[in-house]
Amino acid sequence: DQAESGVSHVATYTESMNPYSERRLTLMTELRRAIREDSLALYFQPQVRLSSGEVCGFEVLLRWNHPEHGFIPPDEFIPMAEQTGLIQPLTQWVLDRALLFGAAMDGAGYPVRMAVNISARNLEEPAFAELVQELLERHGLPTGRLILEVTETATMVNPVNALQALRGLYDAGIRLAIDDFGTGYSSLSYIRKLPVHEIKIDRSFVREMDANREDATIVRTTINMCHDLGFEVVAEGVESDDTSQLLRNMQCDIMQGYHLSRPMPEAHVAGWLSTWYYTSGSGG
Ligand code: C2E
Ligand code: MG
Ligand code: MG
Ligand code: MG
Repeated sequence: DQAESGVSHVATYTESMNPYSERRLTLMTELRRAIREDSLALYFQPQVRLSSGEVCGFEVLLRWNHPEHGFIPPDEFIPMAEQTGLIQPLTQWVLDRALLFGAAMDGAGYPVRMAVNISARNLEEPAFAELVQELLERHGLPTGRLILEVTETATMVNPVNALQALRGLYDAGIRLAIDDFGTGYSSLSYIRKLPVHEIKIDRSFVREMDANREDATIVRTTINMCHDLGFEVVAEGVESDDTSQLLRNMQCDIMQGYHLSRPMPEAHVAGWLSTWYYTSGSGG
C-alpha cells in the first residue's frame, strides 16, 4: 500500500517542530538541495471521464524521498515551503517535470491533461502566468493540456488578488480547477465569480457517499449547482465501484481515486493504461 502510494506516515515529526527550530532549518536546506539535485519524485493519479471511461488526465502529486526519514508526504513539507518562499522553485520544478511527462504521453498517443497543484503564494507571483506559458512552450504542449489546481482555501487568503490572478491564467487559456471544494468558507456569490473550469469535490464528501445519505445529498446538490454555473465537476477520493456508479447516475463528469488507481510513479503509467483500456473496453 505504502509502496504504491509512495507515502508513509512515519514522518509526522515535522508537526511537532518549532517553526524556527534548527531541525526545520535543516529540513528546508535539505529540500532546497533536493530540488537542485532532482531527488524529489512525481506520482501520477488517473482521472477518468464517467460517461465514456476515457482517461482524460492525471493529477501530479509530489513525493519527497528523504535519505533518512523516508517518504515525507506533501502535506508535511508544502506548508513549510510556502512559509519560506521555497514554494516558488518547487512549483516550477513540478510544472517542468509534469509537462515533460505530458509531452512524453502525447508522443505515445495519449493526449491527456496534467493537473498540477499550486499554492496561494504562486498566485501572488506577478510573472506566474508568463512562467507557466513559457514552460508549456518549452515542452511543446497546447495550453489546454495543463490544469492548475488551487484549493478553495488558498483562494480565500487574499480573495481580490486571487480572482485577478486566476483571471489572468484563465485568459491565457490555462485550465483551472478549485480543489478540496466544500471544505473552505467561500460564499456562493464568490464561487459564482471564480474564473475556473472545474470544481473538485473534496474527498471527505465522496469517500462514504455510497453508505451515507447526507454525503450523497451534498455531492448531488454540488454537482447540479456547479453544472448550472458552467463548471465541470471532478469527484476525488472515489474508493468503490458503488460510488462510481452513484456519481455516474448523478452526471458527475470526472472521477479520481483509489478505485481507479493510487498515485503511481511514471514507470507504471503505461502498464496501468493498457490494462485500463483492456478491462474497460473504452478508448483505443
Ligand atoms: P490534493 O490535491 O487534494 O490531492 C489528493 C490527495 O488525495 C492526494 O494525497 C492523493 O494521494 C489522495 N487520494 C487520492 N485518491 C484517494 C482516495 O481514493 N482515498 C484517499 N483516502 N486519498 C486519496 P497526497 O498525494 O498525500 O497529497 C496531499 C496534498 O498535498 C494534495 O491534496 C495537495 O494539496 C498537496 N500537494 C501534492 N503535491 C503538490 C504539489 O506539487 N504542489 C503543491 N502546492 N501541493 C501539492
Ligand atoms: Mg489537487
Ligand atoms: Mg483535493
Ligand atoms: Mg487536499
